Amino acid sequence: MKRIMIDYMKCDGCKNCTAACMQAHREEQGTIYDLDLTDPKNESRNHILSDGRGGYRPIFCRHCDLPECVMSCMSGALSKDSVTGVVSYDVNKCGSCFMCVMNCPYGVLKPDTLTRTKVIKCDFCMEKGGEPSCVKNCPKKAIWVEEVQA
Ligand code: SF4
Ligand code: SF4
Repeated sequence: MKRIMIDYMKCDGCKNCTAACMQAHREEQGTIYDLDLTDPKNESRNHILSDGRGGYRPIFCRHCDLPECVMSCMSGALSKDSVTGVVSYDVNKCGSCFMCVMNCPYGVLKPDTLTRTKVIKCDFCMEKGGEPSCVKNCPKKAIWVEEVQA
């Protein structure tokens, strides 16, 4: 299975990966400048934190081997694909209890900003052929995809 690897020392906080993730999930054509920020679907699935000392911490879903989010979801909205390894979210099954948000050990998951009824979850860009847009748009090569053993 594939995983996005991170070298935080190379990250300069440009947030190209965050913008690329937002663009990757929009349904209509356009640029980042006309992206509808009131549509939860357009929220970024990754985020970049400042470490407070001039450095940055890219926060990306690990698509864990034993995902705490899946194990804590009572409504079956989160599942792990045994072939691809991708942990997916089904908005139609979500009961908005946010147990997954509380249990993700990496602090990746969050409720959507506008309605706070949906979970913003990385889908490994599977609708784009499983080629993560964030990785393609990182100018520092601080994130990359690697094949790992499950
Ligand atoms: S959301 Fe968190 S717990 Fe779930 S697979 Fe991703 S990193 Fe692991
Ligand atoms: S793999 Fe796709 S969905 Fe996941 S953080 Fe990167 S751009 Fe967003």
